[in-house]
Amino acid sequence: MPQGTAEPQRLLVLDDDPGVGQTMAFMAESLGMEARSVVKASDFFDALSQWQPTHVVIDLIMPDMDGVEVMRQLARLECDVAIIISSGVGTRVLDAAERAAAEHRLNVLGVLSKPFTRQKLQDALGQSSRSPVSRQGEGLDAVDSVGGFEVTETALREAIGQNQFIMVYQPKIACRDNSVVGFEALVRWQHPDAGIITPDRFIPMAESLDLIDPLTDLIIEQSLQWVSALQHEPAMSLAINLSAKTLVNLDFADRLAVRCRRQTVRPGQVTLEMTETAAMEDSVMALELLTRLRMKGFHVAIDDFGTGYSSMMQLARLPFSELKVDKSFVMTATSSEEARTIIRSTVELGHSLGLDVVAEGVEDGGALAFLRDIGCDYAQGYFIARPMPTHRISGWLNERQDD
Ligand code: C2E
Ligand code: CA
Ligand code: CA
Repeated sequence: MPQGTAEPQRLLVLDDDPGVGQTMAFMAESLGMEARSVVKASDFFDALSQWQPTHVVIDLIMPDMDGVEVMRQLARLECDVAIIISSGVGTRVLDAAERAAAEHRLNVLGVLSKPFTRQKLQDALGQSSRSPVSRQGEGLDAVDSVGGFEVTETALREAIGQNQFIMVYQPKIACRDNSVVGFEALVRWQHPDAGIITPDRFIPMAESLDLIDPLTDLIIEQSLQWVSALQHEPAMSLAINLSAKTLVNLDFADRLAVRCRRQTVRPGQVTLEMTETAAMEDSVMALELLTRLRMKGFHVAIDDFGTGYSSMMQLARLPFSELKVDKSFVMTATSSEEARTIIRSTVELGHSLGLDVVAEGVEDGGALAFLRDIGCDYAQGYFIARPMPTHRISGWLNERQDD
């Protein structure tokens, strides 16, 4: 139970059954909170902005707008209220909803299955909050992105012209012995006024405006240069994310090989990551590009595995060398038996196709221990390290060696 803060804790309940909502509000009041309940999503959003609750309980299944849609809207509003998901549906569905919410970077405290008791509500409220995923941990000193900045075509073109992009790097470790094997390069737009802008806010636009190729060029140039200058033995691997649009770029593999040679980076050090969906959208082009990359000695990884719609047959046809289990499963591995089952069978599947398996989204020690136990090859995630700007990395590597 939240305690000891001067500000009153306010709970807003959204449930289409007014009896349920009122009961829950009453229970919350008996726990010392202020509480209100509403039955309609529109009233919920009104109360959210006017009454400013600290906590909300959202019923998953409602007639006018379901709980998943409500959460999607909360994500759009970049709302960091503490959320408890409630429902009478089975725990599998609740788990899935919790995963979806975490994926939207919402601050989910937990789930509450009906019928609930005052004790269950108290337990759910007492969970220490999974902090909303913030970028601050990246140690980028610039101001965090100003919410109101609108990404426009002009701004994006200017950003590419002036190279306003910087890279942050997230370590990847071997599960077997926790040794660092490499880094994934993740792009950030460092806007002179708006601060750091994350890729989900500009990559889709760059793709639709045909600006992704020049942007990918900047990303590749910076990250190859960085990894080649990183004095570390053995040499670190570098993973770069590719957009689906790059698939149609027939000379991509050749150009990449030339640039690697120029920076004295071996192709074997470089992995290109492509989402499952991208690879499947045009699997003929994907086959060509991936084959070319492999022939030149690059590795290719299938990213976000488990979120797309590919068939195993199609996947097996494509010459991937690595499979990345999507973070939505890994983030919930500790709490969800179902997530663990999916991860275990994905690791087996990957290994039986001869692929290395990477788990991304490792947020706690339990998940890392589980991954080691089931023989997963590599891991990435906030528990190991957040993506870091270049000036942080040598320090981080040294600290780790001293441990
Ligand atoms: P992705 O390739 O799946 O990258 C992993 C994302 O998960 C990154 O978000 C990373 O910061 C975040 N992450 C890492 N560990 C954890 C964890 O333990 N928990 C949680 N909740 N999240 C974790 P980021 O950097 O915002 O990137 C989002 C997506 O944008 C990437 O997803 C990728 O699809 C795209 N992207 C990023 N950089 C590039 C790039 O250079 N080129 C292209 N084409 N796409 C990029
Ligand atoms: Ca990736
Ligand atoms: Ca991913």
